[in-house]
Amino acid sequence: MRIAMIGAGYVGLVTGACFADFGHEVVCVDVDAEKIARLNEGRVPIFEPGLAELVALNRRAGRLFFTSDTSRALVSVEAAFIAVGTPARVEDGAADLSYVEAATRAIAEYADGFLVVVLKSTAPIGTCDAVEARLAEGGAKGGFSVVSNPEFLREGAAIGDFKRPDRVVVGVEDERAKRVMADIYRPLAQSGAPIVYTTRRSAELIKYAANVFLAMKVTFINEIADLCESVGGDVVDVANGVGLDSRIGRKFLSAGPGFGGSCFPKDTVALTRFAKEARAPLRLVETLVEVNVERKLAMARKIVRACGGSMSGKRVAVLGLTYKPNTDDMRDAPSLTIVPALKAAGAKIVAFDPEGMASARAQLPEIEFSASAYECVEGADALAIVTEWDAFRALDMARVKASMRTPVVVDLRNVYDPEAMRGLGFIYEGVGRGAAASRSSPPSRGRRRTSEELSLDRLRP
Ligand code: NAD
Repeated sequence: MRIAMIGAGYVGLVTGACFADFGHEVVCVDVDAEKIARLNEGRVPIFEPGLAELVALNRRAGRLFFTSDTSRALVSVEAAFIAVGTPARVEDGAADLSYVEAATRAIAEYADGFLVVVLKSTAPIGTCDAVEARLAEGGAKGGFSVVSNPEFLREGAAIGDFKRPDRVVVGVEDERAKRVMADIYRPLAQSGAPIVYTTRRSAELIKYAANVFLAMKVTFINEIADLCESVGGDVVDVANGVGLDSRIGRKFLSAGPGFGGSCFPKDTVALTRFAKEARAPLRLVETLVEVNVERKLAMARKIVRACGGSMSGKRVAVLGLTYKPNTDDMRDAPSLTIVPALKAAGAKIVAFDPEGMASARAQLPEIEFSASAYECVEGADALAIVTEWDAFRALDMARVKASMRTPVVVDLRNVYDPEAMRGLGFIYEGVGRGAAASRSSPPSRGRRRTSEELSLDRLRP
């Protein structure tokens, strides 16, 4: 089958390459002409394990093409997937549908026969209806049918997720489009992946409900981690003990600096927005959004506390900047809150990330970048592990300690064992690992405030 993929970003590129690998002929189109030029030169613009090889293989096989000309991409295709961004609108956090609208207008203008238009972007409930109305207004020649097919892949494991999904969700309301979708996903159905057919609105809602539920697990365990620090439990053991319950599951129960990335932050906010508009507010989700925003600043305060309360002139080595390992994606990464907060408190920041530094340079100006983890920690007063790249899991800690000025480690991903680290002579602080540094209490009236309290104040939202 010949398929057009509109948008060649993380989702469009991975989906397009995987469909081509199933044997379909795929044309990816993107308005970013530079991205398309790079792809046509054989260069993949994002870091995603295995993607460059998959793209190269399918280009060589003559099944995967790139163009910035939408009219060419839509010639004789049976399905056009919309995989453009739906970022948060700056003014209110609702999903910005302008890219979906532009893609829809282009389809209305250039489609040359009956076309199944598949919305893969994450978009609020009712967006497929709006796409359908616009296509009808735009006079799409040859007829069309609109389908919702949300994507659940994770960056860093995207190809495996796409090829071995827990499920594929297809919101479709007519038999002809259902047959086309069944043909497209036949290779996955044959390998046993459940294909969930439902209405378009249910499909749209499944995507948001799934993301928000995962974000809720993360936020829940983060709050349990805080409780552990206050009462003396170890959140790693608690998460294991809780997560081994098959009704709950261990995944997404790792305490850390709060969720970030291209999806959870914007999708949680977007869901609260349209739930409110629909007069069915989701108070649980509204709260988790607030808790997660505050958490990133709380992590900066944790680092300040570990440094004795004052950051003035201190050199902090930050390992990991991307929102998670195995991606170069910096969207809404916790580092984008933590690093500026530490800088505002007077720290000098030196950072290293295996793949994220090119993008981080633009977003975190005025910090120093290192060429390796070991170079990064040289002369540091504290080390903060912010992203759990595998490359940081087995550092030679004796070497790290020898090159630091003060052996303070704040491990926001619980990569290292607290006992072992303290045994090596580090002042070590993880997240939720037993009684930690005492929490800051509000200053009492009439008392001179400590430098720590003043420092922490500057970090408060
Ligand atoms: P992205 O920003 O990486 O890619 C979007 C691409 O669309 C960009 O290359 C942009 O230039 C292109 N584009 C914009 N308007 C266009 C148009 N009119 N015609 C052609 N190309 C156009 O975004 P992404 O991360 O791939 O996300 C896409 C959608 O998938 C979003 O709705 C997102 O929420 C959802 N999603 C993302 C992930 C993820 O992990 N990144 C996972 C599941 C779902």
